[in-house]
Amino acid sequence: ALPIVYAITPTYTRPVQKAELTRLAHAFRQVPRFHWIVVEDSAGRTELVARFLARCGVPYTHLHVLTPRRFKRTGMPRATEQRNAALAWLRQHRSRRDAGVVFFADDDNTYSLELFDEMRSTRRVSVWPVGFVGGRAYERPLVSGGKVVGWYTGWRPDRPFATDMAGFAVNLQVILANPRAQFKRRGSQPGMQESDFLKQITKVSELEPKANNCTRVLVWHTRTEKPHLANEPKNRKDTVFIEV
Ligand code: UDP
Ligand code: MN
Repeated sequence: ALPIVYAITPTYTRPVQKAELTRLAHAFRQVPRFHWIVVEDSAGRTELVARFLARCGVPYTHLHVLTPRRFKRTGMPRATEQRNAALAWLRQHRSRRDAGVVFFADDDNTYSLELFDEMRSTRRVSVWPVGFVGGRAYERPLVSGGKVVGWYTGWRPDRPFATDMAGFAVNLQVILANPRAQFKRRGSQPGMQESDFLKQITKVSELEPKANNCTRVLVWHTRTEKPHLANEPKNRKDTVFIEV
């Protein structure tokens, strides 16, 4: 059987949350052998996300962990605790017998279905280009003779692994074999989470280039504009509750 793709999605309550999750589900429900690990940044599982997941047509696990308030500042890495909660769940609920590939899928990115075909063959850690990151149209691993030899990036080229969260996948067995590997807040500078994590589990020379030797963009680091809500009523609310 094909290895299962485990996509880890941190998500938080805001006006566009359900729209974002809807867009993701439309892609994910077309992917065979797929398991969605949705981790809410909240004190509990919210009704909105619980109801959404129950109807979305994607096999899923619904977790939650609230980011401590002191970490909710601009310039601080986002969703560290949520990604780690998903890794902990995999370590508790999956074993040596389970074939899988783990991927970090933020809720606002845009995913080509081809990306999942590419990542499914990940033996240890695979990498590929990501659109709209690093202050450029794309970042990508530079490949020579089938090996990653450097990074095309416009931001901190000194990063050992100059990739975005959406630019790599890890075989489930590598996650299980490195039980202490996790995303760090302490000692992790903004934008260094990916590199700090990858350095715990692999070497650049071992990376497996996907997407035609890293020449095709199959995922985009899109960001959703905040909707304008200046005209929301203060007193004369709607007569019924409408979930948005
Ligand atoms: N996120 C979260 N809590 C927050 C902020 C963000 O769980 O307080 C999630 C968000 O839903 C997304 C991921 O963390 O899945 C990355 O956040 P965002 O897309 O805002 O980061 P950026 O696009 O700036 O890298
Ligand atoms: Mn984002």
